Amino acid sequence: MKAIVLFGSPGSGKGTQAKLLTECLGIPHVSTGEMLREGVRRGIGVTPKTAAKMQAGILVKDEVVEAMVEERLSQPDAANGFVLDGYPRTLAQAEHLTGWLGKRHIGEVVIHLAVDYNVIIARLTGRRECPRCGTPYNVVLRPPKVDELCDLDGEKLVRREDDREEVIRARLDAYDRQTCPVLEYLRNNGGRVIEVNASNDPPEAVYQRIRQALENR
Ligand code: ADP
Repeated sequence: MKAIVLFGSPGSGKGTQAKLLTECLGIPHVSTGEMLREGVRRGIGVTPKTAAKMQAGILVKDEVVEAMVEERLSQPDAANGFVLDGYPRTLAQAEHLTGWLGKRHIGEVVIHLAVDYNVIIARLTGRRECPRCGTPYNVVLRPPKVDELCDLDGEKLVRREDDREEVIRARLDAYDRQTCPVLEYLRNNGGRVIEVNASNDPPEAVYQRIRQALENR
């Protein structure tokens, strides 16, 4: 059973690493941000109040994400493990998760992606994504071959609604105030924490570091 928690600030590359990990390990990627955005797109299970919080870059209510994650982790495809991305993000969520795992005698492994502040800003402000296939780009750090178009399917790239400067500031602020303490909590709770420097190297190199640390366990 592999319960992996990817931990890091917005723009630390959690989503990218989660995708690499899930492809390789054959376990699902559980991203609360993705689940919430999907809910907004389909108009299911996300209240206007929750959607407004997401747009403003502030955290949605604990109970909303806790219920969502619990439901997701109970699906058959998560029976052998999962990669959590963007959860837990508050102490209450962390307590909820460790309680849930504890009851099932599952120990979590936390991967902390540590990234310098200026790198985070560059990544978030330049981030684009293909609305059709989800391939991520960055206009400065990883530009597409043709300006603003996806290399794979030619679709016009889009910017996530919450990647505007004032919203980025709110998200980083929420991370500092509400999410940072979660790492300490998980460490003290007996979870294994793997520290990974994810500032400078391409995603594949960061991924190799994670794999090595997981194998040395
Ligand atoms: P980020 O790049 O900021 O890590 P995410 O895609 O993980 O973005 O989340 C987008 C938004 O969804 C957050 O700003 C927040 O409003 C909401 N959200 C996602 N996960 C959580 C969570 N665990 N607790 C509360 N709100 C969340």
